[in-house]
Amino acid sequence: MALLQIAEPGMSTAPHQHRLAVGIDLGTTNSLVATIRSGIPEVLSDEDGRQLLPSVVRYLANGNANIGHKAQAHQTTDPKNTIVSVKRFMGRGLKDIAHAENLPYDFVDAPGMVQINTVAGVKSPVETSAQILATLRQRAEDSLGDDLVGAVITVPAYFDDAQRQATKDAAQLAGINVLRLLSEPTAAAIAYGLDHAKEGVYAVYDLGGGTFDISILKLSKGVFEVLSTGGDSALGGDDFDHRLFCWINEQARLAPLSEHDTATLMVKARQAKELLSTNDETTIDAILKSGEIVQVTITAHTFAEITRHLVGKTMNAIRKAMRDADVSVEDVDGVVMVGGATRMPHVRRAVSEFFHTIPHANIDPDKVVALGAAIQANLLAGNRAEGDDWLLLDVTPLSLGIETMGGLVEKIIPRNSTIPCARAQEFTTFKDGQTALAVHVVQGERELVSDCRSLARFELRGIPPMAAGAARIRVTYQVDADGLLAVSARETRSGVEASITVKPSYGLGDDEVARMLQDSYSSAQGDMQMRALREEQVEAERILLATQSALDTDADLLDDAEQDALAKLVIGVRDAIHRSNDTSLEAGARQDALHAAVQALAKGTEDFAARRMDKSVRKALAGKSLDEI
Ligand code: ADP
Ligand code: MG
Repeated sequence: MALLQIAEPGMSTAPHQHRLAVGIDLGTTNSLVATIRSGIPEVLSDEDGRQLLPSVVRYLANGNANIGHKAQAHQTTDPKNTIVSVKRFMGRGLKDIAHAENLPYDFVDAPGMVQINTVAGVKSPVETSAQILATLRQRAEDSLGDDLVGAVITVPAYFDDAQRQATKDAAQLAGINVLRLLSEPTAAAIAYGLDHAKEGVYAVYDLGGGTFDISILKLSKGVFEVLSTGGDSALGGDDFDHRLFCWINEQARLAPLSEHDTATLMVKARQAKELLSTNDETTIDAILKSGEIVQVTITAHTFAEITRHLVGKTMNAIRKAMRDADVSVEDVDGVVMVGGATRMPHVRRAVSEFFHTIPHANIDPDKVVALGAAIQANLLAGNRAEGDDWLLLDVTPLSLGIETMGGLVEKIIPRNSTIPCARAQEFTTFKDGQTALAVHVVQGERELVSDCRSLARFELRGIPPMAAGAARIRVTYQVDADGLLAVSARETRSGVEASITVKPSYGLGDDEVARMLQDSYSSAQGDMQMRALREEQVEAERILLATQSALDTDADLLDDAEQDALAKLVIGVRDAIHRSNDTSLEAGARQDALHAAVQALAKGTEDFAARRMDKSVRKALAGKSLDEI
């Protein structure tokens, strides 16, 4: 198989020198750090031998914070200051957060990303994530006894620019050099060595604590392309706990519970759920605050029955993702199980029945992402075996484009381009003497700027005055390996340059990406017509400007009648432009009418143009003898 080779600048190493790099799974529920030791990927433990770090941070009144298990223990006693699932808030504004009103936090709707007011002050999701990352970094340095060269950090495949940037910012705050952000399903596929497997389509089924993600990947030429992503951001292992909790309540005929008893029983339910993955039955024992004793036995079979509908929900999401990717069950060459909740045997059975295949599940499903990231980090840090120096690539989820005249989008980097990538396109000025150019960067599949998402704007100034169309402005879009975009514009004659790194204020959810794609398919034809109309409008504006500038300098070449005739044609074009914005008329008809007016003006100015040409030739020749010419 042909594999893509990418040399990472500054990454070549002296032989025999191992550079310490780790993979980090910054999860919604749990986070982990893994590395390669003596050629074998392994997850690193804390001093108590625990590998999973709960992604929980509790802020204290003295300004300090507890991180991990200690913080998790206070989730029910101090919910307001104990931040769980901070990953859901990364790169998001308050309005992007589902059911924020049901969460116990005191949210501050800051511009860009939401913040949380705690006893230790206002905290941004980036800071909270940084504290989790710093804990893992410390763990790595303690157990490996050396400084880190860098880390590969995983993110969900559907994370957009803002969410990725927030993750990178958190790493930087934690003092971690990010070698690369890697998508979670791709990391899992790498852990199973699928990148060395045969080319084909793979499904990654990830059921974590609070989220379900399904990704359909296609491996070809060493590149994993994400064909589609789907899932349910409000479905995970927690829902199985909750279902079991309700069942216990019914069985024991409990009276409405206090908050404390609810919390106690929820913990018991979670433990029972986890035990049932390896035991045929288990008993839930608890003594409530009221003194009431709860003792209920449940079999694995019953547990599977009462949670069957939750598994069913994941199957519906798989069907949808397969439809989006346009693949059928027969097309799928392998299935990977990810997430602690896929330890439940009835979940595995359902997936295996769906795909008619035994899924890859022999690596711990809650560690597989971190292990894959560690393998990638090891390669990126330059610890490569002979013949092993390839890297896997991701793709851009939506097209990246630029606004052109008339509010149209010119796509520069099409959707699904493998990253890192760079593309350039040349543009020119619209008006005579134009000295500045506004660059508007947009993301999306539609033809009109108003239907795409605006990412950034900047200006290229100091272009020397030239005739319209004479300047050559080269706009370059560059997406780095983490999916972040840098845009630069350069006027090639004068060398003036301007650039920007795109850090959008907040992001799009996977649903929104899906919606934007859907919109682009369903409105493709209308968009093309609108585009043709806008192009005609731009042409009309251009010819009006050119005519005006000719009249300004050379009106004396025309007699009064000719000037009147020309003025009528100009008014005709102005009127047609005006009418072309009348949305009660059909776009095709508006374009035809405008085209006719523009053609009439073009024809009507032919003679004038010829006289201007004569005049300038005469001027050039004036006072010169024949042999000078
Ligand atoms: P995330 O990706 O959201 O950070 P994880 O992959 O760590 O989450 O999965 C956490 C979920 O896995 C929790 O709901 C936890 O109860 C569940 N889980 C862990 N071990 C088991 C097990 N043995 N059986 C069933 N569920 C388990
Ligand atoms: Mg996970």
